[in-house]
Amino acid sequence: MSVGWDDDEVVAGWPGLPPLSGDVVADACVVGLGASGLAAVEALADRGVAVVGVDAGRVAAGAAGRNGGFLIAGPALFLHDAIAAWGAEPALQLYRATLAELRGLADVLGPAVMRQVGSIRLAGLPGAPTSDAEAAQRVAELADCAALADALREHDIAVESYAGPLGEGLFLPDDAAVNPAVRAVELARRLAGRARLHEQTRVLDVRAGLVRTDRGVLRANAVIVAVDGRLDVLLPQLRGRVRTARLQMLSTAPLAEARLPCPVYSRHGYDYAQQRPDGRLFVGGGRDLFAADEWSADAEPTGQVQRWIEAVAARMAGEATGALPAVEHRWAASVGFTLDARPLCTMVDDGVVAVGGYNGTGNLVGPVAARAAVALALDGAAPPAWATS
Ligand SMILES: Cc1cc2nc3c(=O)[nH]c(=O)nc-3n(C[C@H](O)[C@H](O)[C@H](O)COP(=O)(O)OP(=O)(O)OC[C@H]3O[C@@H](n4cnc5c(N)ncnc54)[C@H](O)[C@@H]3O)c2cc1C
Repeated sequence: MSVGWDDDEVVAGWPGLPPLSGDVVADACVVGLGASGLAAVEALADRGVAVVGVDAGRVAAGAAGRNGGFLIAGPALFLHDAIAAWGAEPALQLYRATLAELRGLADVLGPAVMRQVGSIRLAGLPGAPTSDAEAAQRVAELADCAALADALREHDIAVESYAGPLGEGLFLPDDAAVNPAVRAVELARRLAGRARLHEQTRVLDVRAGLVRTDRGVLRANAVIVAVDGRLDVLLPQLRGRVRTARLQMLSTAPLAEARLPCPVYSRHGYDYAQQRPDGRLFVGGGRDLFAADEWSADAEPTGQVQRWIEAVAARMAGEATGALPAVEHRWAASVGFTLDARPLCTMVDDGVVAVGGYNGTGNLVGPVAARAAVALALDGAAPPAWATS
């Protein structure tokens, strides 16, 4: 398995962080240095707290460095579905918090790393439907796009209709695209002087005041466990509340043509692709089609899902480009799902807060939830209404 995002020179040139060596006492400890854990580290450092953060692998060794790189505002559920399921206030609160997260990230990363190009929700994959069933699904998805657009407009969130070479759907101008591994490495670089951060340090056990790793013991009154996928493995008491799934992707050689102006997702977000400025396609999806196998803590790509993603990539590439360009990398990573699609932010032991369960869309929701976890751990602030606690 190799990850297409890691080809970037910023990631390839990351010098790494030293593993923990021996026991450490700090005010706070963060487990997991993906985008969520790094946001928790930042929030703790901003409050003058002495913080140590550890990751079992490299920074963003998990989903945070292996995802589609979509920075899409809002919860995992589309806004109209979230309003129906959770009520308007929690759904809108989370939507607005992710919009604020996007704005803050743009300031930190700059336009070279974070491309503010919007996103397209497409009704069905590009190209003509290949069956009656696909045609019917496209009609239904177009109706769902209209319902989403109504909800967004009602709450003054920017949305436009999309009709173009890719098909029909919605354009959401606030959204953005990023190389997620670059994002994480850049954030870690900024934080390294403000907190003790250690890679290659696996946490074995977490309890109140004590984090046992394979490199030493950490003692801290506040502990944030910011592990999205495999949260139920590290904290077995969360089994039944959060469940690990595998999501898969591939990346191709550059296409001759600029096909995707921005991140594009279809089939209700199950399939997704972005084309990088150098022409390469980064494509993922298909989890719903092989759900029984993809409820797994294993993070290796599989043949059946990769074949589906290749078909998605060919549709995204379009007929004009001929055959799908060579696949250069294939990979997978673990994410956490909750029963009601709300992120989990919950105290599991005195001063120990677990945060995760972003239901496949944690690039913005994760940092927002991680900050709520810090407020819960330090101040006892109740988790927001959009979280499962
Ligand atoms: C293929 C794929 C595509 C996706 N596409 C998108 C997308 O386009 N947009 C979007 O918003 N979301 C997307 N997601 C979901 C998103 O990637 C995750 O929700 C998000 O990255 C979660 O970030 P995190 O920092 O909370 O957790 P993670 O990224 O999972 O980070 C957790 C970190 O904890 C570390 N860790 C785990 N166990 C231990 C341990 N025992 N000890 C120490 N460290 C440990 C891991 O090494 C990892 O670095 C996608 C996910 C995948 C897999």
